[in-house]
Amino acid sequence: MDTTAAFTGLRCTGCGERVVGDQGDEAEVGASDGESSGSVVVSGRCPDCDAPLDADYDYDALAADLDRAAFAPRPRDGVWAVDALLPFPAETAVSVAEGATPLVLAPRLTDELGVAGVLVKDEGRNPTGTVLDRGFSVAVTAANAADATDVAVAEPGDGGQSMGSYAGRAGMRPHSFTPSRSTFLNKAMTNVHGGEMRVVGGRYPDAVEALADGWMDDWTDLMPFTTPYRHEGQKSLAWEVAAGTDWDLPDALVVPTGTGEVLYGVWKGFRELAEVGLVEVGELPRLYAAQPDGCAPIATAWERSLDVPEPWGPPDTICGELEVPDPPGGSLALDALAESEGGAVAVDDEDALEAAVVAGHHEGLEVSVNAGIAFAGAWELADEGAFDGDETVVLVNREAGVKTADLLRSHLMGQGV
Ligand SMILES: [Zn+2]
Repeated sequence: MDTTAAFTGLRCTGCGERVVGDQGDEAEVGASDGESSGSVVVSGRCPDCDAPLDADYDYDALAADLDRAAFAPRPRDGVWAVDALLPFPAETAVSVAEGATPLVLAPRLTDELGVAGVLVKDEGRNPTGTVLDRGFSVAVTAANAADATDVAVAEPGDGGQSMGSYAGRAGMRPHSFTPSRSTFLNKAMTNVHGGEMRVVGGRYPDAVEALADGWMDDWTDLMPFTTPYRHEGQKSLAWEVAAGTDWDLPDALVVPTGTGEVLYGVWKGFRELAEVGLVEVGELPRLYAAQPDGCAPIATAWERSLDVPEPWGPPDTICGELEVPDPPGGSLALDALAESEGGAVAVDDEDALEAAVVAGHHEGLEVSVNAGIAFAGAWELADEGAFDGDETVVLVNREAGVKTADLLRSHLMGQGV
């Protein structure tokens, strides 16, 4: 497997041990760089403590090689524009030109929140309309490099569509376990990409259980924080925010949060910019997790000062993409909130619907209800005094408005529109 020069392998986020694949484990392959005699794990957690694994780099070497110009947005390269800070070289990437999404100024929201600027990182413009494309590009690249034939995931909807796109492009068979409540659009497009989809009665946890029950030994597991590479792909969002603000980093980001993949990955991306000396640690933005109040394990754990979220049950929200009662990246997400000196907020579904509709009406932006959680969360945070008047706030629009057009339309009809 080709790996990049500064990638030094995987480290356990729990016990700190370096983790290499064992001989005979089909989920690993030999590393090709002469420095390492170990193997690169394609998917799996720590064999000692079961915590998620994380890619590690030689930051001193990167600091000597990287400058800010390297981060200039290059739409054709997308997530892979700065492959020196990813495990795999761009020439091996399975990419549909994800990333390089715009930062859109939202003038009405800026006035309404009483801050210096609100910018929307519009992840709805990714190839399959979701921020998850960033992670699947890197995770499918790893599986492809290991000659995987089949990749599998349980997911609320967007993940099956996204994985289908990347796996199809690489000639792999994608298997997604999708809850029946997932949207027609997700199910249809998962099929269009050639994905084998099992629709599971119920909600996301039922799909996770069905994946475990239906597991086949020749599949590669692309669940977030089982593959170490989905959150790794999310680092690019942070790099693009840095470059997109001309390195005058924003003060805060509000991130719709389900599994923790995006939140933790974005924080890692910012932290690494400091590790390689391109920004000061003190300049890094505060991260805020926004969750629906019908399934808010991370926001609740933050409020109660817990290190690990308690599983939420039973969940009840229309924000299916964020309905993750037992988030696999929960403790890492809490670490990111603490290290960044940010916070968390839980938002009512109705407020998320209204915020998404207002963004569409006033700012011209197409925002799904799953992303409306961040917009409504920013409102609530502003009310709580989380932002100063001279601050810049970035809202992550994690998913295209068209994904939940039916829910937004129903909300308007409920108002007599
Ligand atoms: Zn460990």
